[in-house]
Amino acid sequence: MNLDEIASKARAGERLSGDEALELYRRAPTPLLGQLADAVRLRKHPDGIVTYIIDRNVNYTNICVAKCTFCAFYRPVGSPDGYVLGFDELFRKIDETIAVGGVQVLMQGGHNPDLPLTWYEDLFRAIKVRYPTFKLHALSPPEVIHLSRLSQLPVPAVLERLIAAGLDSVPGGGAEILVDRVRRLLHCYGKATADEWLGVMRDAHRAGLRTTATMMYGTVETDDERIEHLLRLRALQDETGGFTAFITWSYQPEHTELGGGEATGVEYLRMLALARIVLDNFPSLQASWVTQGGKVGQLSLAYGSNDMGSVMIEENVVRAAGAAYCMDEVEIVRNIENAGFVAKRRNMHYEILGDPIFRERAVPRMLELAVARADGDTSRPPEIARYPARSATEKKARLTGN
Ligand code: SF4
Repeated sequence: MNLDEIASKARAGERLSGDEALELYRRAPTPLLGQLADAVRLRKHPDGIVTYIIDRNVNYTNICVAKCTFCAFYRPVGSPDGYVLGFDELFRKIDETIAVGGVQVLMQGGHNPDLPLTWYEDLFRAIKVRYPTFKLHALSPPEVIHLSRLSQLPVPAVLERLIAAGLDSVPGGGAEILVDRVRRLLHCYGKATADEWLGVMRDAHRAGLRTTATMMYGTVETDDERIEHLLRLRALQDETGGFTAFITWSYQPEHTELGGGEATGVEYLRMLALARIVLDNFPSLQASWVTQGGKVGQLSLAYGSNDMGSVMIEENVVRAAGAAYCMDEVEIVRNIENAGFVAKRRNMHYEILGDPIFRERAVPRMLELAVARADGDTSRPPEIARYPARSATEKKARLTGN
Protein backbone atom coordinates (compact mmCIF):
# COMPACT_ATOMS: atom_id res chain seq x y z
CA MET A 1 0.00 0.00 0.00
CA ASN A 2 1.35 3.42 -0.83
CA LEU A 3 1.42 6.41 1.52
CA ASP A 4 -1.75 8.01 0.09
CA GLU A 5 -3.72 4.79 0.52
CA ILE A 6 -2.53 4.40 4.09
CA ALA A 7 -3.41 8.02 4.86
CA SER A 8 -6.89 7.52 3.37
CA LYS A 9 -7.37 4.44 5.48
CA ALA A 10 -6.38 6.36 8.62
CA ARG A 11 -8.67 9.23 7.63
CA ALA A 12 -11.57 6.80 7.28
CA GLY A 13 -10.93 5.56 10.82
CA GLU A 14 -9.82 2.10 9.69
CA ARG A 15 -7.29 0.20 11.74
CA LEU A 16 -3.69 0.21 10.45
CA SER A 17 -1.52 -2.91 10.36
CA GLY A 18 2.02 -2.83 11.74
CA ASP A 19 3.52 -2.53 8.23
CA GLU A 20 1.19 0.34 7.35
CA ALA A 21 1.99 2.14 10.60
CA LEU A 22 5.70 1.76 9.94
CA GLU A 23 5.38 3.09 6.40
CA LEU A 24 3.38 6.07 7.66
CA TYR A 25 5.86 6.79 10.45
CA ARG A 26 8.88 6.60 8.16
CA ARG A 27 7.54 8.42 5.12
CA ALA A 28 4.70 10.78 6.05
CA PRO A 29 5.60 14.47 6.31
CA THR A 30 5.12 15.77 9.86
CA PRO A 31 2.11 18.01 8.98
CA LEU A 32 0.30 15.02 7.44
CA LEU A 33 0.89 12.91 10.56
CA GLY A 34 -0.48 15.80 12.63
CA GLN A 35 -3.60 16.15 10.46
CA LEU A 36 -4.36 12.43 10.65
CA ALA A 37 -3.84 12.34 14.44
CA ASP A 38 -5.89 15.49 14.95
CA ALA A 39 -8.76 13.92 13.01
CA VAL A 40 -8.71 10.93 15.38
CA ARG A 41 -8.65 13.30 18.38
CA LEU A 42 -11.60 15.25 16.99
CA ARG A 43 -13.61 12.07 16.31
CA LYS A 44 -13.09 10.91 19.90
CA HIS A 45 -13.39 14.33 21.55
CA PRO A 46 -15.64 16.49 19.37
CA ASP A 47 -16.51 18.87 22.22
CA GLY A 48 -13.27 20.90 22.05
CA ILE A 49 -12.45 20.11 25.68
CA VAL A 50 -8.88 19.48 26.81
CA THR A 51 -8.58 18.06 30.29
CA TYR A 52 -5.93 17.98 33.02
CA ILE A 53 -5.71 16.61 36.54
CA ILE A 54 -4.45 18.23 39.71
CA ASP A 55 -2.46 15.57 41.51
CA ARG A 56 1.00 15.12 42.95
CA ASN A 57 3.78 12.91 41.70
CA VAL A 58 5.36 11.42 44.82
CA ASN A 59 8.38 9.12 44.75
CA TYR A 60 8.25 7.37 48.11
CA THR A 61 11.76 5.91 47.86
CA ASN A 62 14.71 6.25 45.47
CA ILE A 63 16.40 3.07 46.71
CA CYS A 64 16.25 0.51 43.93
CA VAL A 65 17.80 -2.84 43.13
CA ALA A 66 16.72 -2.83 39.46
CA LYS A 67 19.43 -0.43 38.20
CA CYS A 68 18.00 0.35 34.76
CA THR A 69 20.72 1.96 32.65
CA PHE A 70 18.47 4.83 31.49
CA CYS A 71 17.58 5.91 35.05
CA ALA A 72 19.24 8.83 36.83
CA PHE A 73 16.87 8.71 39.80
CA TYR A 74 17.70 5.54 41.69
CA ARG A 75 20.29 5.02 44.44
CA PRO A 76 21.61 1.59 45.48
CA VAL A 77 20.82 0.12 48.90
CA GLY A 78 23.09 1.76 51.49
CA SER A 79 23.74 4.93 49.45
CA PRO A 80 23.99 8.08 51.60
CA ASP A 81 21.55 9.76 49.15
CA GLY A 82 19.00 6.96 49.49
CA TYR A 83 15.70 7.89 51.14
CA VAL A 84 12.33 6.49 52.18
CA LEU A 85 9.58 8.99 52.90
CA GLY A 86 7.81 8.68 56.24
CA PHE A 87 4.04 8.44 56.58
CA ASP A 88 3.94 11.96 58.10
CA GLU A 89 5.96 13.40 55.20
CA LEU A 90 3.51 11.81 52.79
CA PHE A 91 0.51 13.20 54.69
CA ARG A 92 2.09 16.68 54.48
CA LYS A 93 2.45 16.30 50.71
CA ILE A 94 -1.18 15.26 50.43
CA ASP A 95 -2.28 18.27 52.53
CA GLU A 96 -0.36 20.57 50.15
CA THR A 97 -1.94 18.83 47.16
CA ILE A 98 -5.46 19.25 48.54
CA ALA A 99 -4.71 22.95 49.21
CA VAL A 100 -4.25 23.54 45.46
CA GLY A 101 -7.35 21.51 44.53
CA GLY A 102 -5.65 18.12 44.08
CA VAL A 103 -7.65 14.91 44.03
CA GLN A 104 -5.04 12.16 43.97
CA VAL A 105 -1.44 11.19 44.44
CA LEU A 106 0.59 9.38 41.79
CA MET A 107 2.89 7.26 43.92
CA GLN A 108 5.82 5.42 42.36
CA GLY A 109 9.25 4.54 43.64
CA GLY A 110 12.30 2.33 43.46
CA HIS A 111 12.35 -1.39 44.13
CA ASN A 112 13.39 -1.15 47.75
CA PRO A 113 14.00 -4.59 49.27
CA ASP A 114 13.40 -3.24 52.79
CA LEU A 115 9.80 -2.14 52.20
CA PRO A 116 7.58 -5.22 52.45
CA LEU A 117 4.00 -5.46 51.17
CA THR A 118 2.69 -4.67 54.67
CA TRP A 119 4.42 -1.23 54.54
CA TYR A 120 2.35 -0.35 51.46
CA GLU A 121 -0.85 -1.76 52.96
CA ASP A 122 -0.39 0.20 56.18
CA LEU A 123 0.43 3.38 54.26
CA PHE A 124 -2.56 3.08 51.92
CA ARG A 125 -4.91 2.36 54.84
CA ALA A 126 -3.55 5.30 56.83
CA ILE A 127 -4.05 7.61 53.82
CA LYS A 128 -7.62 6.42 53.31
CA VAL A 129 -8.45 6.92 57.00
CA ARG A 130 -7.21 10.53 56.89
CA TYR A 131 -8.40 11.36 53.36
CA PRO A 132 -11.32 9.02 52.50
CA THR A 133 -12.12 10.49 49.07
CA PHE A 134 -8.52 11.14 47.98
CA LYS A 135 -7.38 8.74 45.24
CA LEU A 136 -4.30 6.51 45.14
CA HIS A 137 -2.93 6.08 41.62
CA ALA A 138 0.04 3.97 42.61
CA LEU A 139 2.65 1.34 41.85
CA SER A 140 3.55 0.69 38.22
CA PRO A 141 3.64 -2.95 37.00
CA PRO A 142 7.37 -3.51 37.80
CA GLU A 143 6.74 -2.37 41.41
CA VAL A 144 3.83 -4.81 41.68
CA ILE A 145 6.08 -7.58 40.33
CA HIS A 146 8.79 -6.59 42.84
CA LEU A 147 6.21 -6.92 45.65
CA SER A 148 5.05 -10.24 44.26
CA ARG A 149 8.63 -11.54 44.39
CA LEU A 150 9.30 -10.10 47.86
CA SER A 151 6.10 -11.50 49.33
CA GLN A 152 6.17 -14.70 47.26
CA LEU A 153 2.55 -14.15 46.34
CA PRO A 154 1.16 -14.22 42.79
CA VAL A 155 0.46 -10.82 41.19
CA PRO A 156 -3.37 -11.11 41.44
CA ALA A 157 -3.06 -11.77 45.19
CA VAL A 158 -0.77 -8.74 45.65
CA LEU A 159 -3.22 -6.57 43.72
CA GLU A 160 -6.12 -7.89 45.77
CA ARG A 161 -4.36 -6.93 49.00
CA LEU A 162 -3.39 -3.50 47.70
CA ILE A 163 -6.95 -2.84 46.49
CA ALA A 164 -8.32 -3.88 49.89
CA ALA A 165 -5.91 -1.36 51.45
CA GLY A 166 -7.03 1.48 49.17
CA LEU A 167 -5.32 1.27 45.74
CA ASP A 168 -7.59 3.00 43.19
CA SER A 169 -5.71 2.70 39.89
CA VAL A 170 -2.35 1.71 38.42
CA PRO A 171 0.01 4.04 36.53
CA GLY A 172 1.56 2.73 33.33
CA GLY A 173 5.20 3.39 34.19
CA GLY A 174 8.03 0.95 33.59
CA ALA A 175 6.83 -0.02 30.12
CA GLU A 176 9.77 1.66 28.35
CA ILE A 177 9.58 -0.37 25.09
CA LEU A 178 7.63 -3.62 25.38
CA VAL A 179 10.12 -5.68 23.39
CA ASP A 180 12.45 -7.99 25.28
CA ARG A 181 15.49 -7.34 23.05
CA VAL A 182 15.31 -3.68 24.06
CA ARG A 183 14.57 -4.48 27.70
CA ARG A 184 17.67 -6.67 27.94
CA LEU A 185 19.85 -3.91 26.52
CA LEU A 186 18.40 -1.35 28.95
CA HIS A 187 18.80 -3.68 31.92
CA CYS A 188 15.08 -3.59 32.65
CA TYR A 189 14.28 -7.12 31.48
CA GLY A 190 14.85 -8.40 35.02
CA LYS A 191 12.38 -6.01 36.61
CA ALA A 192 9.67 -6.97 34.13
CA THR A 193 9.67 -8.66 30.73
CA ALA A 194 7.23 -7.32 28.14
CA ASP A 195 4.82 -10.18 28.88
CA GLU A 196 5.11 -9.61 32.63
CA TRP A 197 4.32 -5.88 32.31
CA LEU A 198 1.29 -6.64 30.15
CA GLY A 199 0.31 -9.47 32.53
CA VAL A 200 0.13 -7.11 35.53
CA MET A 201 -2.05 -4.74 33.51
CA ARG A 202 -4.31 -7.62 32.45
CA ASP A 203 -4.65 -8.71 36.09
CA ALA A 204 -5.32 -5.12 37.22
CA HIS A 205 -8.02 -4.67 34.57
CA ARG A 206 -9.60 -8.00 35.54
CA ALA A 207 -9.61 -6.85 39.17
CA GLY A 208 -11.62 -3.80 38.08
CA LEU A 209 -8.84 -1.19 38.12
CA ARG A 210 -8.32 1.31 35.32
CA THR A 211 -4.72 1.97 34.30
CA THR A 212 -2.67 4.10 31.94
CA ALA A 213 0.03 2.94 29.51
CA THR A 214 3.33 4.63 28.70
CA MET A 215 6.21 4.45 26.25
CA MET A 216 9.73 5.81 26.60
CA TYR A 217 11.38 5.97 23.19
CA GLY A 218 14.76 7.20 21.98
CA THR A 219 17.21 4.74 23.53
CA VAL A 220 18.25 1.64 21.59
CA GLU A 221 14.99 0.61 19.93
CA THR A 222 14.30 0.47 16.19
CA ASP A 223 11.26 2.01 14.47
CA ASP A 224 9.76 -1.50 14.15
CA GLU A 225 10.08 -1.97 17.90
CA ARG A 226 8.27 1.30 18.58
CA ILE A 227 5.42 0.03 16.42
CA GLU A 228 5.49 -3.38 18.11
CA HIS A 229 5.11 -1.61 21.48
CA LEU A 230 1.98 0.18 20.25
CA LEU A 231 0.52 -3.00 18.73
CA ARG A 232 0.97 -4.93 21.98
CA LEU A 233 -0.86 -2.21 23.92
CA ARG A 234 -3.63 -2.10 21.32
CA ALA A 235 -4.07 -5.89 21.53
CA LEU A 236 -4.40 -5.82 25.34
CA GLN A 237 -6.85 -2.93 25.13
CA ASP A 238 -8.96 -4.96 22.67
CA GLU A 239 -8.98 -7.76 25.24
CA THR A 240 -9.72 -5.80 28.45
CA GLY A 241 -10.63 -2.19 27.64
CA GLY A 242 -8.94 -1.18 30.90
CA PHE A 243 -6.55 1.55 29.70
CA THR A 244 -7.77 5.11 30.10
CA ALA A 245 -4.87 6.87 28.41
CA PHE A 246 -1.49 6.58 26.73
CA ILE A 247 1.51 8.79 27.49
CA THR A 248 4.77 8.81 25.56
CA TRP A 249 7.98 10.69 26.31
CA SER A 250 11.51 10.77 25.05
CA TYR A 251 14.43 9.29 26.96
CA GLN A 252 16.20 11.93 29.10
CA PRO A 253 19.92 11.06 29.00
CA GLU A 254 21.63 13.36 31.53
CA HIS A 255 23.35 11.63 34.49
CA THR A 256 22.36 8.17 33.25
CA GLU A 257 24.67 5.20 32.77
CA LEU A 258 23.35 4.74 29.23
CA GLY A 259 24.11 8.33 28.16
CA GLY A 260 23.56 9.40 24.54
CA GLY A 261 21.41 12.18 23.12
CA GLU A 262 17.80 13.28 23.38
CA ALA A 263 15.18 13.02 20.64
CA THR A 264 13.95 16.32 19.20
CA GLY A 265 10.56 17.95 19.75
CA VAL A 266 9.63 17.11 16.15
CA GLU A 267 10.40 13.45 16.77
CA TYR A 268 8.16 13.64 19.84
CA LEU A 269 5.27 15.08 17.83
CA ARG A 270 5.68 12.41 15.14
CA MET A 271 5.72 9.63 17.75
CA LEU A 272 2.68 11.07 19.52
CA ALA A 273 0.73 11.46 16.27
CA LEU A 274 1.54 7.91 15.20
CA ALA A 275 0.41 6.60 18.60
CA ARG A 276 -2.90 8.49 18.26
CA ILE A 277 -3.47 6.91 14.84
CA VAL A 278 -2.46 3.35 15.82
CA LEU A 279 -4.07 3.23 19.28
CA ASP A 280 -7.58 3.53 17.89
CA ASN A 281 -9.07 1.90 21.00
CA PHE A 282 -7.47 4.27 23.55
CA PRO A 283 -9.83 7.04 24.58
CA SER A 284 -7.18 9.58 25.60
CA LEU A 285 -3.60 10.62 24.89
CA GLN A 286 -1.73 12.88 27.30
CA ALA A 287 0.77 15.56 26.30
CA SER A 288 4.14 15.06 27.96
CA TRP A 289 5.03 18.70 28.63
CA VAL A 290 7.17 17.60 31.59
CA THR A 291 9.84 16.33 29.20
CA GLN A 292 9.06 18.53 26.19
CA GLY A 293 8.28 21.90 27.79
CA GLY A 294 5.06 23.92 27.71
CA LYS A 295 5.24 24.98 24.07
CA VAL A 296 5.72 21.51 22.58
CA GLY A 297 3.14 20.36 25.14
CA GLN A 298 0.71 22.89 23.70
CA LEU A 299 1.57 21.81 20.13
CA SER A 300 0.76 18.23 21.18
CA LEU A 301 -2.89 19.28 21.20
CA ALA A 302 -2.64 19.53 17.39
CA TYR A 303 -0.86 16.16 17.16
CA GLY A 304 -3.39 13.92 18.87
CA SER A 305 -3.43 14.80 22.58
CA ASN A 306 -6.68 15.67 24.30
CA ASP A 307 -5.22 15.95 27.79
CA MET A 308 -2.43 17.98 29.39
CA GLY A 309 -1.68 15.38 32.06
CA SER A 310 -1.03 16.57 35.55
CA VAL A 311 -0.40 19.91 37.16
CA MET A 312 3.14 19.26 38.31
CA ILE A 313 3.60 20.01 41.98
CA GLU A 314 6.58 17.75 42.50
CA GLU A 315 8.85 15.87 40.12
CA ASN A 316 12.00 13.88 40.87
CA VAL A 317 12.60 11.25 38.19
CA VAL A 318 12.77 13.30 35.00
CA ARG A 319 14.47 16.16 36.86
CA ALA A 320 17.29 13.78 37.90
CA ALA A 321 17.89 13.23 34.17
CA GLY A 322 18.05 16.91 33.33
CA ALA A 323 14.48 18.09 32.55
CA ALA A 324 12.64 20.35 35.02
CA TYR A 325 9.70 22.08 33.38
CA CYS A 326 7.15 23.48 35.80
CA MET A 327 3.55 24.54 35.06
CA ASP A 328 0.90 25.14 37.68
CA GLU A 329 -2.82 25.15 36.93
CA VAL A 330 -2.80 28.76 35.70
CA GLU A 331 -0.08 27.96 33.14
CA ILE A 332 -1.68 24.72 31.99
CA VAL A 333 -5.02 26.43 31.47
CA ARG A 334 -3.34 29.31 29.61
CA ASN A 335 -1.68 26.83 27.24
CA ILE A 336 -4.95 24.97 26.62
CA GLU A 337 -7.02 28.09 26.03
CA ASN A 338 -4.42 29.77 23.83
CA ALA A 339 -4.53 26.68 21.60
CA GLY A 340 -8.27 27.22 21.15
CA PHE A 341 -9.64 24.59 23.53
CA VAL A 342 -11.82 24.63 26.64
CA ALA A 343 -9.93 23.62 29.79
CA LYS A 344 -11.59 21.29 32.31
CA ARG A 345 -10.36 19.51 35.42
CA ARG A 346 -10.77 15.74 35.50
CA ASN A 347 -10.13 12.71 37.69
CA MET A 348 -8.18 9.54 36.75
CA HIS A 349 -11.30 8.11 35.07
CA TYR A 350 -11.42 11.21 32.84
CA GLU A 351 -14.70 12.32 34.40
CA ILE A 352 -14.99 16.12 34.31
CA LEU A 353 -14.73 17.65 37.78
CA GLY A 354 -15.25 21.26 36.78
CA ASP A 355 -13.70 24.46 35.49
CA PRO A 356 -10.22 25.59 36.56
CA ILE A 357 -10.19 25.74 40.32
CA PHE A 358 -8.26 29.04 40.49
CA ARG A 359 -11.32 30.68 38.92
CA GLU A 360 -13.50 29.33 41.73
CA ARG A 361 -11.30 30.17 44.70
CA ALA A 362 -7.89 31.54 45.58
CA VAL A 363 -5.19 28.85 45.38
CA PRO A 364 -1.47 29.38 45.97
CA ARG A 365 0.62 29.65 42.76
CA MET A 366 3.27 26.95 42.41
CA LEU A 367 6.10 28.39 40.39
CA GLU A 368 8.76 25.93 41.44
CA LEU A 369 8.65 22.17 41.59
CA ALA A 370 8.80 20.64 45.04
CA VAL A 371 11.27 17.81 45.66
CA ALA A 372 10.77 14.46 47.36
CA ARG A 373 13.10 15.51 50.15
CA ALA A 374 15.19 18.57 50.95
CA ASP A 375 18.90 18.17 50.10
CA GLY A 376 20.88 16.94 53.08
CA ASP A 377 17.83 15.54 54.90
CA THR A 378 18.98 12.04 55.82
CA SER A 379 16.32 11.36 58.45
CA ARG A 380 14.84 7.88 58.68
CA PRO A 381 11.10 7.64 59.14
CA PRO A 382 10.24 6.22 62.57
CA GLU A 383 7.76 3.61 61.32
CA ILE A 384 10.46 1.85 59.22
CA ALA A 385 11.62 0.04 62.35
CA ARG A 386 8.26 -1.79 62.47
CA TYR A 387 9.03 -3.65 59.23
CA PRO A 388 11.63 -6.42 58.95
CA ALA A 389 14.77 -5.48 57.01
CA ARG A 390 15.67 -7.78 54.15
CA SER A 391 18.93 -6.41 52.74
CA ALA A 392 22.18 -7.12 54.60
CA THR A 393 23.03 -3.40 54.47
CA GLU A 394 19.80 -2.36 56.17
CA LYS A 395 20.05 -5.15 58.76
CA LYS A 396 23.54 -3.95 59.66
CA ALA A 397 22.42 -0.29 59.76
CA ARG A 398 19.67 -1.22 62.23
CA LEU A 399 22.11 -3.09 64.46
CA THR A 400 24.67 -0.30 64.50
CA GLY A 401 22.12 2.54 64.51
CA ASN A 402 23.61 4.12 61.34
S1 SF4 B 1 13.55 3.18 36.37
FE1 SF4 B 1 12.56 2.54 38.28
S2 SF4 B 1 13.09 0.37 38.44
FE2 SF4 B 1 14.56 1.26 36.97
S3 SF4 B 1 16.33 1.87 38.25
FE3 SF4 B 1 14.97 3.68 38.07
S4 SF4 B 1 13.72 3.55 39.93
FE4 SF4 B 1 14.61 1.53 39.63
